[in-house]
Amino acid sequence: MTTVRAIDLRSDTVTQPDEMMRVAMSAAEVGDDVLDHDPTMRRLEDEVAALVGMEAALWVPSGTMGNLIALMLHLNRGDRFLAARGSHVLEAELGSAAWLAGGMPHPLEWTAGPGRFAAEDVRAMATPSAPYYALRTRLLCLENTHNFAGGAVTPPDEHARLVSAAKEAGLRVHLDGARLWNAAVALGVPPAALAVGVDTVQVCLSKGLGAPVGSVLAGPSALVREGRRVRKMLGGGVRQGGVLAAAGILALERMADLEVDHANARSLADGLTELGWAVVRPETNIVLAEVPDTRVALAMLDQVGVLAAAVPGGVRFVTHRDVPTSDIGEALRRISGQVSGRSAAEHPVRA
Ligand SMILES: *Cc1c(COP(=O)(O)O)cnc(C)c1O
Repeated sequence: MTTVRAIDLRSDTVTQPDEMMRVAMSAAEVGDDVLDHDPTMRRLEDEVAALVGMEAALWVPSGTMGNLIALMLHLNRGDRFLAARGSHVLEAELGSAAWLAGGMPHPLEWTAGPGRFAAEDVRAMATPSAPYYALRTRLLCLENTHNFAGGAVTPPDEHARLVSAAKEAGLRVHLDGARLWNAAVALGVPPAALAVGVDTVQVCLSKGLGAPVGSVLAGPSALVREGRRVRKMLGGGVRQGGVLAAAGILALERMADLEVDHANARSLADGLTELGWAVVRPETNIVLAEVPDTRVALAMLDQVGVLAAAVPGGVRFVTHRDVPTSDIGEALRRISGQVSGRSAAEHPVRA
C-alpha cells in the first residue's frame, strides 16, 4: 500500500473541477435542453462551432457518444469505414461502431508515422465504381491527437492531403478530436485549421481542459440537427445541462494552459530516459514507455505513489492540469528510488 500522496498520471480525465469552475456551474442560467434548448448549452455549442470552424455543434455527455452519433449519421449498415490502427473508435468504444452504427471497420496501418497513414492508403481502400455486390467504403475516421500512438499530432498540411484523398474518393470524413486542443496548441495553430474539410468533428471538454463532463460534436447545421435526434435516441438528451455546459465554457478559456502539460510531458520523458527507461519523446501530453512487464512496472510505480496506465507493451503517463510542474520532478525522484517515504524506500522502482 502506498503511504505517499499519489501523483495521478493515468489520464487527463482525472482532473477535478476547481472552485472557479464549481462557482460557474452553480451560477449557470439553465433551461430544458430537450424541449427548447438550454441557453448555456447553446452558448457553449456556438463557441465550439466557431472554434472548430463549423456551422453548428451539439453538446454530448461523452466523446464516445459524440463519435457514435457521427458514425450513425455517416454510415449505413454494412458500410466500411477506415481508421488508423489503434484508433479510439476501433479499440476503446466497445464495438459500438459496428454494433450500433453498423459499420464494417477497416484499420489502416501506421505507414506515415505513429498513428498516421498516408493519402495513398485511403485511395487504395476507396470503392468509387465498385459493382453493386461489393463492400462499400463510406467514411474515413481521423484522430488528432492520436491517443494510443502517444498523443501524436497530424499537422494541417497532412490533414488536408488525407481529407482531399477521402473527398476525391467520395468518402465522408469524421475527426475524433478528443485532444484536438492539444494538437492545436502544440502546433501553434487555431483548432479550426486542423478540422478543415471534415464533415464532423468531436472534441472533448473533460480531458486536458478540465471540465467534469462533456464533449461537443460539430458539423453542418443539417447534420447537427439530425445528430440531435440521434442523441435523444441514445438517451443523451439532458434537461438543465447548462450546469455542465458552464464548466465547458470555462474549460475552453484554459486551452493555452495545455502548453504547460506538454512541457511537463517532455520533462517527464527526458527524466525517464535519463533513468534508463525506453520512452517515446512526446509531441503533446502523453508519454509512452516500453517495459518488459507492464503489470510489474505498474505495481512498482504504484508502490511509490506514481499512477500510470497499462498499454500494450508498456505504460502510459498523461500529464494534466492537476499535476503541477513540481510534481513531475517529484515523480521522477520517486521513480529513481530517492523518495523519502518509507514505502518507497522499501520498494524502489527498477522498471
Ligand atoms: C477519451 C477519448 C474519446 C472518448 O471520450 P469519453 O468522453 O471518454 O467517452 C474518444 N476519442 C479519443 C481519441 C479519446 O482519447
